[in-house]
Amino acid sequence: MANLVAIVGRPNVGKSTLFNRMTQSRRAIVSDVAGTTRDRQYGKCSWNGKEFSVVDTGGWVVKSDDIFEDAIRQQVRVATEEADLVLFLVDVETGVTDWDEDVAMILRRAKLPVILVANKVDNSGNAYEAAEFYRLGLGDPVCISAATGGGTGDLLDMILTKLPNNVDEAPEENIPRFAVVGRPNAGKSSLINAFIGEERNIVTDIAGTTRDSIYTRYTKFGFDFYLVDTAGIRRKNKVSEDLEFYSVMRSIRAIENSDVCILMIDATRGIEAQDMNIFQLIQKNNKSLVVVVNKWDLVQDKSQKAIDTFKNAIHNRMAPFVDFPIIFASALTKQRIFKVLETAKQVYLNRETRIGTTKLNEVMLPIIEQTPPPSTKGKYIKIKYCSQLPNTQIPSFVFYANLPQYIKEPYRRFLENKIRENWSMHGCPINVFIRQK
Ligand code: GDP
Ligand code: GDP
Repeated sequence: MANLVAIVGRPNVGKSTLFNRMTQSRRAIVSDVAGTTRDRQYGKCSWNGKEFSVVDTGGWVVKSDDIFEDAIRQQVRVATEEADLVLFLVDVETGVTDWDEDVAMILRRAKLPVILVANKVDNSGNAYEAAEFYRLGLGDPVCISAATGGGTGDLLDMILTKLPNNVDEAPEENIPRFAVVGRPNAGKSSLINAFIGEERNIVTDIAGTTRDSIYTRYTKFGFDFYLVDTAGIRRKNKVSEDLEFYSVMRSIRAIENSDVCILMIDATRGIEAQDMNIFQLIQKNNKSLVVVVNKWDLVQDKSQKAIDTFKNAIHNRMAPFVDFPIIFASALTKQRIFKVLETAKQVYLNRETRIGTTKLNEVMLPIIEQTPPPSTKGKYIKIKYCSQLPNTQIPSFVFYANLPQYIKEPYRRFLENKIRENWSMHGCPINVFIRQK
């Protein structure tokens, strides 16, 4: 199971600076999806061959003065419930504040590892000032300068030693793991209930090592599957439920540990920023996708035209990745519920698609011949052949070219689309690489 680290602290202590530093290297590899600024609040950090996720709690609160401090305090509580480790960032320039003391009290009671981090220690002079944070009762602060990177290597070493060893209670292979995700009130728990009915007692939990198991196995309608982190069933804290940050933390866990994400959109509201945030989490984790437009029973105009308009709106927001199924359903009346499961299963199977090298070249080379990569700087660019890489997480294709550096993103996307047109990869992310012949 993937590990999740949350950065908490007052505004301006340097949370986002530290977050950027931790997630930087990775971002250069994973192409960033253009989107909201919130996109910057979640990323992956790789250090010494280990990978974990980082969340900057800073961006998830709306600044309205009276509730502001209270809201962050609530976020800290959610972070202690949902993360595996908390980085509590404080600022040596301002010293200990009342708010820091309040938060320290919450963190001292929490049952997870907390690292107290004193930021803005840019020179050895103010390292002395960091000593005053000792009185927060969270041990000696680790001194860093997020801006220059000073001390961050030691901090990352320490994070790795303190992260729980979340040995994956690996659910059985070849049984798909579905995550039902979406913003609060989209209908997640209703859909799950529609899937599994009231027979909660057939549920078999796999004992987790450090926290409740997040996999629950079901056999329904002839399908064998796991539901991942069914937040709707395990509501523990009604207050947190309304907090967007809470649903984000739950979504991260569910998405990271799933094969296929069933993203629920409320038909009566259309697609909004919060839906997009979750969609981006799905994309960043390279997960397969089925979109369910729920509460279809409440929509008056169900004409083909209305359906097309809805589909186009979703595609426009989620472009360029648009090759995924969209199902108009109602968790309440159970309309097309079976179809949702069936489609999720199919999308899962699409991931296993293997295309033989001969067949792939037979189809792709004539397409490339007809529409070759545009020549750049007078150079003639030729793709000689292609193949699918064996044993990859998602279908991955390599095109071998004489001058790969001159093949730009639009052409790479063209190749991806042609693969999608010729083989069924519906709902499934794929990689297309261009390499030197
Ligand atoms: P956040 O609100 O906690 O996310 O804080 P930011 O990361 O936006 O940083 C707030 C301000 O502190 C910015 O002006 C940063 O440039 C500055 N800052 C962040 N880290 C350091 C540091 O290590 N040293 C110094 N001197 N300034 C820093
Ligand atoms: P969650 O927060 O995403 O788990 O959403 P819930 O499943 O709790 O649903 C939120 C509200 O929407 C509840 O009042 C449900 O009864 C209602 N709801 C969910 N699905 C549907 C649907 O398909 N049609 C209608 N009319 N209401 C629905």
